[in-house]
Amino acid sequence: MESERINWPKYFALQATMLASRSTCTRLHVGAVIVKDGRIIASGYNGSVAGTPHCSDVGDLIVDGHCIRAVHAEQNALLQLAKMGISGDGAEIYVTDFPCVHCTKFLLQAGIRKINYLRNYNNDSFAMELIQQKKIALEKVTLEQADLQALNLERYLNN
Ligand SMILES: [Zn+2]
Ligand SMILES: [Zn+2]
Repeated sequence: MESERINWPKYFALQATMLASRSTCTRLHVGAVIVKDGRIIASGYNGSVAGTPHCSDVGDLIVDGHCIRAVHAEQNALLQLAKMGISGDGAEIYVTDFPCVHCTKFLLQAGIRKINYLRNYNNDSFAMELIQQKKIALEKVTLEQADLQALNLERYLNN
């Protein structure tokens, strides 16, 4: 059987979707991977501060229309870099959803040079302005049914 190799943007975007599946916020499941020189150096999904109750257990904590309990996926990925002492300067991010204005600021400030995203999500006009001012590359990755079929996860089942 002929099998198409998945291209790199889709490969990393799919990893972001796997991360998103671990999200514990009930509002939106977001996953992110930070990639440098073709390698994943950090990843994250949106969820509560480690060791504290999850939105999925105790409910979201909504302030001004946003859940403030969850640390955003992009922030978790950046904080993982900080914790591990790894520079994100010059790296790119693959994220399932267009970053909010706060995450956009953090990503740019951390030196992220390209934002790849799967879905538009309340795309913030100031975030877009910053991305343009900083000349950050922005790419919308599109996944298709054929990409999911190419993964063929069933082959890894033991029974
Ligand atoms: Zn939440
Ligand atoms: Zn955010």
